[in-house]
Amino acid sequence: RGKRAFIAGVADDNGYGWAIAKSLAAAGAEIVVGTWVPALNIFESSLRRGKFDESRVLPDGSLMEITKVYPMDAVFDSPEDVPEDELVESVKQDFGSIDILVHSLANGPEVSKPLLETSRYGYLAAISASSYSFISLLKHFVPIMNPGGSSISLTYIASERIIPGYGGGMSSAKAALESDTRVLAFEAGRKHKIRVNTISAGPLRSRAAKAIGFIDMMIDYSLANAPLQKELSAEEVGNTAAFLASPLASAITGAVVYVDNGLNAMGVGI
Ligand code: NAD
Repeated sequence: RGKRAFIAGVADDNGYGWAIAKSLAAAGAEIVVGTWVPALNIFESSLRRGKFDESRVLPDGSLMEITKVYPMDAVFDSPEDVPEDELVESVKQDFGSIDILVHSLANGPEVSKPLLETSRYGYLAAISASSYSFISLLKHFVPIMNPGGSSISLTYIASERIIPGYGGGMSSAKAALESDTRVLAFEAGRKHKIRVNTISAGPLRSRAAKAIGFIDMMIDYSLANAPLQKELSAEEVGNTAAFLASPLASAITGAVVYVDNGLNAMGVGI
């Protein structure tokens, strides 16, 4: 049987979640996605109306199939939100188990404020939606993940180097996510034989990134300064996720894998 992937954080065809879905589908996985409730209707209707058909084309010419779209909310503090235990219960009833879990979501309400001006509320909201959300997702899904399975999240170099403009505690949230990747790799590895890795991705003009406001500058900076002077494509991140989820990566866990044209290795821009 082919592998089944649940990808949390797909709401259009511009982000890393979509690209990861495509690479996994191209490698033969069945694709199931979780979409944030406020974006769900428009995503599903666009999908139905064929708006994404061009970007659904896989290397063999066929179209990526998304077997099911589930409503999800990574921060469920109001009763109308969808708690993760209900989500996982539905996935279990529909499919029984999954092999691959992808967390491709983040949210920081004060991302455009410097850390020094971030409120406690904004900071905790960033950590809640962007870091704890991964712990919670893995915790709920791990009981229905097959041994040998793999989980992947997306992080950003602002966790370890100063990236002015990535504020509101989002840099802190990514640092937590990377640290949690190591601890969860130990816990989920020992207890469930599940691998836990995170991809530190370079800049992509996604919906979320455009909302931060500095994405074009970051893309230009990378083009000018990275060892590989080409624009990063979402597919390159998708392909790395497919590798990490596959048996080719069976000894890789607890890792932060850079997919950024090598920019992380530079000491100064030149
Ligand atoms: P994106 O807009 O495609 O994805 C973000 C998703 O998060 C959206 O689908 C949104 O609906 C969802 N989301 C937000 N709050 C949520 C919540 N409370 N519950 C459920 N879903 C929620 O943007 P993206 O840039 O592809 O982001 C995906 C991941 O990649 C994020 O973790 C982001 O930090 C990371 N990343 C992005 C870049 C970049 O330059 N775009 C670089 C490095 C890392």
